[in-house]
Amino acid sequence: MPEVAVLGTGLMGAKVCKRLVSCGYGVRGWNRTPEKANRLAEIGVRPCATAAEAVEGADVVLLMLADAHAIRDVLLSDANTKALLAGKTILQMGTIGPKESASIGSEVSSAGGSYVEAPVLGSQPEAEKGTLLIMVGAEADPRDTPAGPVWPLLRALGQEPNIHFIGPVGTAAAVKLALNQLIASLTVGFSTSLGLVQRSGAPVDKFMSILRASALYAPTYDKKLQKMLDRDYGAANFPTKHLLKDVRLFESEAAAAGLDTAVQAALSGVIASAMAKGLQDCDYSAVFDAIVEPSSRGSGDAAGGSSAGDGSSRAQPGSAADV
Ligand code: NAP
Repeated sequence: MPEVAVLGTGLMGAKVCKRLVSCGYGVRGWNRTPEKANRLAEIGVRPCATAAEAVEGADVVLLMLADAHAIRDVLLSDANTKALLAGKTILQMGTIGPKESASIGSEVSSAGGSYVEAPVLGSQPEAEKGTLLIMVGAEADPRDTPAGPVWPLLRALGQEPNIHFIGPVGTAAAVKLALNQLIASLTVGFSTSLGLVQRSGAPVDKFMSILRASALYAPTYDKKLQKMLDRDYGAANFPTKHLLKDVRLFESEAAAAGLDTAVQAALSGVIASAMAKGLQDCDYSAVFDAIVEPSSRGSGDAAGGSSAGDGSSRAQPGSAADV
């Protein structure tokens, strides 16, 4: 079993560590805020005081950092850490832009390491269970070297056939952004429709019943409905701040590809408004608060019914990845 260094033991990194330990991997963890790595010692992770210490003893360096800026800070800005990358595989699993990924990949290659991007769809529960949907971008399909470190590691975190080799570095990052753009569009679209239904006095139950029976339905609507009705966005699996990052990345990539990005600019604006309300660390369904301001009329937001419906036709939570 290769030794794995997980750099970034935040929401996703901590669950990845837990899963890898349960699969028998030796895991070294590092995090900028050390407490988040230190508390993983109780599940068998070896906390490291510096990223260099984690990288030095590892065969594979798994990145679960917030963004490309963080990756550069942690891995590439310090010459000593960069020198340690020679002969190692760098497995980048956070959500970053295709051009960012390609540029980081070429720096890793010039330092003598090999770079694989493997962004994921799915959140903390899927990371912990090893059921993430994984998109892989690399010079060559890692399945061609099944005895190498990458494919068995990905199979610990996701399940075939949901681990997809997409193509060269950048292509998997692009597919991931394309999917996250849909998270933002669907959530903002649903929030706006739900808001109008509430404000009109029409029963939310009826609206949901019709929606569920239609081709317009997506399981994410039921996953987020109660949070929106209660305006209780709770501890995030996937926080609002990362959705904003991803929509902005998509917007910039799509604009560079010659697409019209007026809608994504508007999505960014709405998500930024939710951030301005202090909801950056909440579940991204908090965009509802930016779109449907809490009523000042005292009539309650749930006009027309606050129940999610009769439940008989509701999608089962956990039936599809959250993000
Ligand atoms: P998170 O809890 O916010 O973790 C972000 C990590 O990046 C933390 O370890 C943080 O360290 C570190 N970091 C941020 N800026 C840094 C810097 N300048 N230098 C060093 N470390 C830095 O987020 P997450 O949810 O685990 O997400 C990690 C990545 O996976 C993101 O790209 C996200 O978009 C992606 N992703 C998340 C989900 C999800 O459901 N949560 C799903 C799919 C993909 P500190 O703890 O010190 O802040």
